Amino acid sequence: MQYVNSLLDLIGNTPLVRLGRTLDLPDGGAEAPLVLAKVEYLNPGGSVKDRIASRMIDAAEASGELQPGGTIVEPTSGNTGVGLAMVAQQRGYTCVFVCPDKVSEDKRNVLKAYGAEVVVCPTAVAPEHPDSYYNVSDRLASQPGAWKPDQYSNPHNPRSHYETTGPEIWEQTEGKITHFVTGMGTGGTISGVGRYLKEQNPDIQVIGADPAGSVYSGGTGRPYLVEGVGEDFWPETYDRSVADRVIEVSDADSFAFTRRLAREEAMLVGGSAGMAAFAARQVAHELAAEGRSDAVVVVLLPDSGRGYLTKVFNDDWLAQYGFATGAEADHRTVGEV
Ligand code: PMP
Repeated sequence: MQYVNSLLDLIGNTPLVRLGRTLDLPDGGAEAPLVLAKVEYLNPGGSVKDRIASRMIDAAEASGELQPGGTIVEPTSGNTGVGLAMVAQQRGYTCVFVCPDKVSEDKRNVLKAYGAEVVVCPTAVAPEHPDSYYNVSDRLASQPGAWKPDQYSNPHNPRSHYETTGPEIWEQTEGKITHFVTGMGTGGTISGVGRYLKEQNPDIQVIGADPAGSVYSGGTGRPYLVEGVGEDFWPETYDRSVADRVIEVSDADSFAFTRRLAREEAMLVGGSAGMAAFAARQVAHELAAEGRSDAVVVVLLPDSGRGYLTKVFNDDWLAQYGFATGAEADHRTVGEV
């Protein structure tokens, strides 16, 4: 019989899938580099964050910071919350997530569906107010038995990528990878994968993709709409020495390419995946122009598009922000770069 004992045993070992039409490479890409997508939405919780959740919890159990029956408190409403909630219920912990009231009900309901508690804080109060997002999460995290993973400072976040995502990519490409492209939120993915790959072969180019406005590409934290990537501060989990280059991608290009991935590659992914893949396409065009048909570019696609159906995949939402919609949105990147 073929089975696993828990869904947690299915975290990681995600496949690499070749990108085709959306790259718009000359001659169908025959003389061009190979571009492979690491499809992280095939993790059981639906995102790359399952990896860090299980690794951070394992480490806290080992160090005694998390005791049997303890409570995990994290200010998150996204993918990290799902990963933590999934691992927590399987191991008998309670999860409490603190999120601002601007977080959609759908996102809160996903966390509740896994059995987590969600505490919603008003956005319209000052940070020093007792009901503020920061104060509530600090207060909950200081209760006896509570533990706060803090994905922005926890070294087991990048370590999970150093130990799993990096080695998987190296082995799946039989050491032939030449370029690694990924978005950066906490910076855990790029720091862990990048360090591992460079230790195997220092010539591998590590390339960050970043929303225009974020600090990683020299911005000041100016707002952007793509979710899960870009920061207005430098997280401790980001290793500044690892990226060889950062490519800035506009929201318009990120969203248009996200839609192309769904329509042309059958990959229903989130906006940060579209952003990273758009940067990978740019790298592929540069390499093709240099005649580098030996190059192997791997781009990491962090999560599924299911969580963004009312945004990136909704013409009215796109139009509200002045982005191209419909067929225009799906094709505006053709022939560019
Ligand atoms: N995309 C999405 C959708 C995410 O949730 C995250 C994590 N914030 C990232 C990309 C970036 O990953 P990392 O935190 O490892 O830099």
